Amino acid sequence: MKYFCLILFSLLLLSCKQNERSEKQQGNKQVEKKNRKAVTIKILPLGKTTPVFIQNTFSDLKKIVPNVQLLPKEAMPSFAYYKPRNRYRADSLIAWMRKRAADGEVYLGITMDDISTTKLPNPDHGIMGLGYQPGNACIASNFRVRDKKNYYKVVIHELGHTAGLPHCPQPFCFMRDAEGKDVTGEEKEFCAGCKAHLKKAGWRL
Ligand SMILES: [Zn+2]
Ligand SMILES: [Zn+2]
Repeated sequence: MKYFCLILFSLLLLSCKQNERSEKQQGNKQVEKKNRKAVTIKILPLGKTTPVFIQNTFSDLKKIVPNVQLLPKEAMPSFAYYKPRNRYRADSLIAWMRKRAADGEVYLGITMDDISTTKLPNPDHGIMGLGYQPGNACIASNFRVRDKKNYYKVVIHELGHTAGLPHCPQPFCFMRDAEGKDVTGEEKEFCAGCKAHLKKAGWRL
């Protein structure tokens, strides 16, 4: 009888633990579901930056994107350096940030250094920004933006790509293809179609 009670007690204990575990698993699933919905943009200042440049980008983004976090600034990783032109490879940088991003996070690298990517026939072509479409990493540089107050347009263009938007045929839309030029002066807003897409992703537009 004593043994029977002991076995019964152990069984009860075991079943309690199992319940507890399955409740925990359910809880985790709910958290995962929540994270999938609300993406967090993590701003990573890289290489050359100033406090004003970082703060302005952070406050501009906070107005339109639901969750934004500012990370401490870091040096440019040396593997991305392209010595012949003294600039950094944007494709290497976004591949590196993609690995750092956890579920539900998008990394946005911001810099005042020049960045580049391969655009055949040019093996190293200077650009303002690059982002996965869709994806969890992008980078935006103000180096090639003539009027620096238009820099936020490059930032939201790249974030628009990570949210799944392709280039847009409207010449006034922030998702316009720059085709190697600085057209930020002509960009006024997101067009109705691009706006609707981003609103679904939680942007306040
Ligand atoms: Zn683009
Ligand atoms: Zn558009």
